[in-house]
Amino acid sequence: MAEQVDCLVIGAGVVGLAVARALAIRGREVLVLEAEDAIGTGTSSRNSEVIHAGIHYAPGSAKASLCVRGKHLLYDYCRARGIDHRPCGKLIVATDQSQVTALQKIEATARANGVTDLRWLAAAEATAMEPALSCVAALLSPSTGIVDSHGFMLALQGDLEDAGGTVAFRAPVKRGRCGSDAIRLEAGSDELIEVAAQCVVNSAGLQAQAVARRMEGVPDQSIPTSAFAKGSYYVLHGKAPFRHLIYPTPEPGGLGVHLTLDLAGQAKFGPDIEWIEELDYTVDPARAARFYCAIRRYWPGLPDEALHPGYAGIRPKLGGPDAAAEDFLIQGPRAHGVRGLINLYGIESPGLTAALAIGEYVADELTR
Ligand SMILES: Cc1cc2nc3c(=O)[nH]c(=O)nc-3n(C[C@H](O)[C@H](O)[C@H](O)COP(=O)(O)OP(=O)(O)OC[C@H]3O[C@@H](n4cnc5c(N)ncnc54)[C@H](O)[C@@H]3O)c2cc1C
Repeated sequence: MAEQVDCLVIGAGVVGLAVARALAIRGREVLVLEAEDAIGTGTSSRNSEVIHAGIHYAPGSAKASLCVRGKHLLYDYCRARGIDHRPCGKLIVATDQSQVTALQKIEATARANGVTDLRWLAAAEATAMEPALSCVAALLSPSTGIVDSHGFMLALQGDLEDAGGTVAFRAPVKRGRCGSDAIRLEAGSDELIEVAAQCVVNSAGLQAQAVARRMEGVPDQSIPTSAFAKGSYYVLHGKAPFRHLIYPTPEPGGLGVHLTLDLAGQAKFGPDIEWIEELDYTVDPARAARFYCAIRRYWPGLPDEALHPGYAGIRPKLGGPDAAAEDFLIQGPRAHGVRGLINLYGIESPGLTAALAIGEYVADELTR
């Protein structure tokens, strides 16, 4: 006999937890099924922990609106819940005159997205702020910041549980059936349990397409192609001479090898881009040469031997290197025809920043 539940969320990453929390605080009964034995062991703990301002995304896209809304919600939430964070600001730099036009485009895109606090800096103003920096011009984004992503996820889990929700660990969803009265999922490792839910949110991150494919009743043609774009990080040995995050002008598929700081002041560089077939988190020491080269364009003083392989994260992309610019794909019944099911596909950056806004959006959709 299947266990009955109102709402079921697949995946306890930052997005699954934010969705589950949003549903639970609206009074819905919520169960989260997580394959691993802890929250946030996937992409949510393999990222830059940056609170993005909402600068780079196509105006009108889900990424743009959810990032800008999510940023405000996240800063408020961090203040209310005492989650460690810092609005340290970031500089996007042009390292030669040919990149100034790209910066102008970035400013125009940001403005169209409602990010109106960017400030132009001449080279002298930028180096007055960051003496180790080399650039011909820069854009300062004061509302970019950093956050303790694990503290954020623990707070989401706490809110979920306070509102009566539960996270079940070691409960990988194996398959499902979409019926007219309920969606039935089978989950577990050794022993399978069956749960019947009125609403299901597939927030399985890199596995979202694989999970959808194993659910009878979800049309194949509604499931987008998945592609994996690995991003490796190198950490800096010693103290970084920067107080702001430093970003070059973006490259296709990512934001370029940028410098981010964590809350303890540790500097890391990355993520770069490598298209892969299988999930693999090892950092290849051979990639270091490309990092030195990219970083020295804006920090010529980077000492030899200062970089060490750090960690890697994998972006859940909806197409390969040649795909057009992608958006988050939040797919409800209008797209796939299954009542009560929402699939979250392609939730790459800025998913951490946007998590609370995605939670709000999905809870609204399921309440309608
Ligand atoms: C390199 C990199 C850097 C990034 N930097 C930033 C940044 O600085 N700022 C920002 O805003 N965003 C950033 N992001 C994006 C952000 O990290 C992600 O958007 C976010 O973490 C996605 O969360 P999620 O919950 O969707 O996925 P995940 O964290 O991957 O969670 C999915 C969960 O589903 C579980 N799962 C999988 N299959 C099953 C199954 N069958 N049954 C049950 N559970 C299952 C997994 O175990 C996992 O816990 C970055 C991403 C990458 C890759």
